[in-house]
This record gives sequence, structure tokens and C-alpha cells, in this order.
Amino acid sequence: MGILEEHKNQYLNNNIQFVLVNREGCVIESDNTIFGVEVYDNLTDYHPFFISLFTLFDTDKKKLIYRCVNLNLEQAEIIVDIKIEKFGEGVLVTIHNLTEHYEEYQSVAQGRNESIIKSELIVIKNKELEERERFKNEFIQNFSHELRNPLTSTITITNALDALKMPSEQKQMVEYLKDANSNLKLMIEDILNINMMASGKLVLRETIFDLHKLISVLNFSYDKKAKKKGINFFLSYDEKLPKHLEGDKLKLYQILTNLLENALKYTKEGSITLSVSLNQKRADKTNIRFLVLDTGIGIPEKSQKVIFDSFSRLDQSRNENGVGLGLAIVKGLVELMGGTIHVESKENHSSKFYFDLTFRYFLFENKQQRKPRQLQHKTQPKEGEKFRLLLVEDDNQIQMSIFKALANTGNFFIELVDDGAHVIQELINKKYDIILMDVNLPNTSGDVLTKLIRELPMNNLRKTPIIGLTSNAFEEQIRQYKKAGMNAVITKPFDVEELLETIFTLCKNSKK
Ligand code: ADP
Repeated sequence: MGILEEHKNQYLNNNIQFVLVNREGCVIESDNTIFGVEVYDNLTDYHPFFISLFTLFDTDKKKLIYRCVNLNLEQAEIIVDIKIEKFGEGVLVTIHNLTEHYEEYQSVAQGRNESIIKSELIVIKNKELEERERFKNEFIQNFSHELRNPLTSTITITNALDALKMPSEQKQMVEYLKDANSNLKLMIEDILNINMMASGKLVLRETIFDLHKLISVLNFSYDKKAKKKGINFFLSYDEKLPKHLEGDKLKLYQILTNLLENALKYTKEGSITLSVSLNQKRADKTNIRFLVLDTGIGIPEKSQKVIFDSFSRLDQSRNENGVGLGLAIVKGLVELMGGTIHVESKENHSSKFYFDLTFRYFLFENKQQRKPRQLQHKTQPKEGEKFRLLLVEDDNQIQMSIFKALANTGNFFIELVDDGAHVIQELINKKYDIILMDVNLPNTSGDVLTKLIRELPMNNLRKTPIIGLTSNAFEEQIRQYKKAGMNAVITKPFDVEELLETIFTLCKNSKK
């Protein structure tokens, strides 16, 4: 006999038992392979399952098969398949011991159930996290939205105060106010930035800009700030760098000012260096290294990994104000622009932050026609030129800020409407060169109103420029306002220069 044949016989012999019983269930013969039964004993005494033998005689069937039967016998606990079939006057019972197989199935099935349950739990957990994240983002969005109106008023009122003549002691107080305002404004912007990054809503606004000019501005202001602190500021600028780059100028500026502000904050003596150098120029792309180095208190090695997390601040004895968002924003912005921020630092010695970015660059020297719009002179109205402006705004303080900013130029006749419901009537009755409209109005919203205005049958109204004013800095919403027909959207707290520039440019274009 071959080895396999022998193995098979052994397996079958050990796992299959035949028992022959009469119609009453008494054992006539058994091979006792799996468990021992005595001749003349009733099989139903060994296990109540065997009562099912009698059902065979209630049917026309010749045999019945029961699968996965648990037999708790005195000798053993086994899981078997049982076949009962009519055999002459009696019944042949075939018991197939499949304990191992069934246990295996069970554990597989259980494992599968567990993994299904686990993955369902993960889905639920994720949903909960998403929900929380959405709530947090919405909360921050709404909250910073609410902060913008009062902040706009304090900024404009402080600026108005600053222009007045007053004793130096009061001037000093106004200076404090100005400082506090700009810190508050930066903090709100930081929180919003982090929020937008977290929800993937921050996008690049690429324009063509002058790198040399951007670095000169930084050089000028940080040289002054460093001198005031009694330390040196050095600029190392590679003359081989191309001048005109395509990229997000404001975000690059934000990254560098964040790093420079930290360098200034954490350096008591020595110097700060800003270095901008060319890594390579190939085809129309250039790769540039930006580096900020200081000789300040440094960052312990173990902390270097966490400083880029939101709200991470090293030990409080360093005693500087801040909320620990600066570097998280820097990291997010550098990554958004396709780079990676690196830090090298020695405690009580120095800190170095650097990153490489790739930009498209342009040579404009011989191609005047490609000169970008951003580099042109500011739009200014002609001497004595007047524009009729309709201001739609319900907040008294914002009304006052705008009145003041516009009145100073002497270029405007201003009409005010503080309720969305009256705007259309006003526009039908009078002619305006430009409309400045808050997006959040009583009774309606600025974008809905804009859509209505654009649909009116008067030709001139379809072309009258509309500038939206909003506390909502989210790209998505701004895009929606523009889609409704607004020509530009300005976010609060607004910069007076930016507001005037936008108004003048739009008025000029619409008069063409
Ligand atoms: P903040 O400055 O508002 O606390 P940041 O995110 O900008 O937050 O920085 C996180 C932490 O990293 C700071 O609290 C500070 O301890 C450390 N840090 C950042 N820049 C420097 C630096 N140039 N020198 C020493 N420590 C620094």
C-alpha cells in the first residue's frame, strides 16, 4: 500500500463511525471508532440528538443528513456531520468527525466578523472626526468673521486719531493701540490661515512679481527693526537671480516675515541674516534657496520636530508672546508652494531656517509687451475727477470708515443705502459710476442683490462695477460672489489703499 493510501485509510478510519440500530434505536452493531457504545443500549441515551432517527420513518426520504452537530458526549465534545439512512429493517448512522474543520471555519468566520466590525468602527470614527473637524472649521470661520467688523472700526478710528494733533502722552497711547490692532489682525489672519490649510481651502494666487523689490522691502523694514533692538541685519542677495518670477508673492512674503519676526524675537545680540540664492536656472524655471539665520537662543534638538506643529510653543521661560502658529503656517505655506522647510539649530548659539522653491521666471528687458500688470503704476484719478458712488452698508462703524477714507480723496459723491430692499429703487432713480456693497445685508445678501441688478433691463446697470465687502476670506465664497456678478471682492478689515486702488481701476475701466 502506498503512503498516501495508508494515510487516507488511517484518516477515514479515525474519523468515521458506523452504527447500526433497529427501529427503536437500540444498537445492533458499532465500530466504535469515535466513541464507544454498547450493543442493546439505546443510542438516544448517549445523546438526545439521536431522537431525530425516528423522524426518518415519518418521511418518504431514504436518508437525512445533519451538518455541524455539536455532540457533547461523556468521552469528548465533538462537531460532526451525521447521516442516517434506512438500512434493511433498521437504520445505519454514519458519524463523520469534522471537529477540526468546523473549528477552523469558525475561527475564520469570527476573524472575518471582527475585521468587518473593526472597519465599520473606523468608518464611524472617521465620520465623527470629520463632523468635529467641520464644526471646528465652521466655528472658526464664523468667529473670525464676527471679529472683523469691530476690528475694522478700531483700526480706522485709531488711524483717524493718529492723524490728529495731541499731546505726546496721548500719541504714545495711540501707538499702543496701533500695535495692539495690528497684532490682533495678524492673529485673526493666522487662525484663519491655519483653518483654511487644515480644510484644504488655501490656494495659491500666482501673479508675476518682482523678487528684487520684495526682498528690498524686507531689507528696509528688518534693517530698521534690528537696529532698534541693537542687533545687525545682513542681506545676502544673489545678483544672478532672475527678477520677475511667477508665484504667490503675498504668501512668500508671509513666510519670510514669519521667519524674520521669530529671528528678531529670539535673538538678543548678534545678527540676523536673510539670504536668497540661486540653486539653478533651467529652461524657464528657476530654483531658489531662501534662508533666515540668527544668532539667538536656538532650539533644543528634541524640540526641533515639534516647533512646526500648530500651537506648539517651547518652554514659557523664553518669555515671548505668541500663540505658536507662526511656524505651522510657514510649514503649510512652503509645502503649498511645493517646498519643504528645514531647521538647523544649536541651543544658545544659532538657528537656521531654509527652504527651496521653484518658480517660472521671465526676462522682460526686451519684451515690453509682456510686462505684467502688477508692475504698472497705480491708477490715479485725474485732477478734479468725480465719481458717483453708492455705498450699501448697514454697519455704522464701517459706513464711517469708508466715508472718511473716500472723503479724504475728494473724488467722490457718496450716497448711502443701509437696507438691501432699497437698492434697486435707488439704482433705477439715479445713475452711479460704482457700487460698494456689503455682502451681509439686512433682508438680503449682496450676491443675491448683485445677481438681481445684473438681470435688470437697463444696459448701464449691467456694466456698473460692483465691489463686494465681506468678512469672509474663503476662496470658495469669494468665487461665488464674483460668479454672482461682482467685479471685485474686498475682505474686511480692508486696507484703504487697496480699496481706493480697486475703486479707481474699476471706475476708469467702466468709463472707457
Ligand atoms: P510663536 O513664536 O508664536 O511662539 P512659532 O510657531 O513661530 O510660534 O514658533 C514656535 C516655537 O519655536 C516658539 O515658541 C519658539 O520657542 C521656537 N522658535 C521659533 N523660531 C525660533 C528662533 N528663530 N529661535 C529660537 N526659537 C525659535
